[in-house]
Amino acid sequence: MSRIAIDMDEVITDALSKHVNLYDQHFNKKTNLDDLVGISLPEFALPEEKMKVLEIVHHESFFDDLEVFPGAIETLEALSKEHELFITTAAMEVPNSFNGKYKWLLKHVPFIDSMNFVFCGDKSIVHADYLIDDNVRHFKRFNGKGLLFDAPHNRLVDYNPRMKNWNDVAEYFGVRVAQTC
Ligand SMILES: [Mg+2]
Repeated sequence: MSRIAIDMDEVITDALSKHVNLYDQHFNKKTNLDDLVGISLPEFALPEEKMKVLEIVHHESFFDDLEVFPGAIETLEALSKEHELFITTAAMEVPNSFNGKYKWLLKHVPFIDSMNFVFCGDKSIVHADYLIDDNVRHFKRFNGKGLLFDAPHNRLVDYNPRMKNWNDVAEYFGVRVAQTC
């Protein structure tokens, strides 16, 4: 049995798509996710748009209804039968996100004990065998093995192993999940 820590945004939840949709609606644009290869939305936005881009994600309802990436819940459930899972989300970057994220987790991953939800800042405090995250910066001082979850912003980062989707995660840990991706 291993201890696996899993990030939430852009690993389990598709926060980026919602962020981009709200940005497009507000500024009447049509942004393609391919436009965001190698950069974050705040970096991509025009200087005069940046404030609004941050406001969107700091709104307390932003995290309430995020979509799940295909296969994420099924794979987590299968993993939870063989491993100890922790959800480690850098909530301190967006303190308003706490309630929304907590309720979201209770609803979508009821098979993970809520005592294993970790709302953190610096993830180097996390002690686990694996950390699945879309930000390589969290791996720098992490003692276990970092598995990079693919996202447009990290696509130019040279890192191995990279999980393209949740099928890759299931395969990496050798758990059987119905094909969903
Ligand atoms: Mg993330």
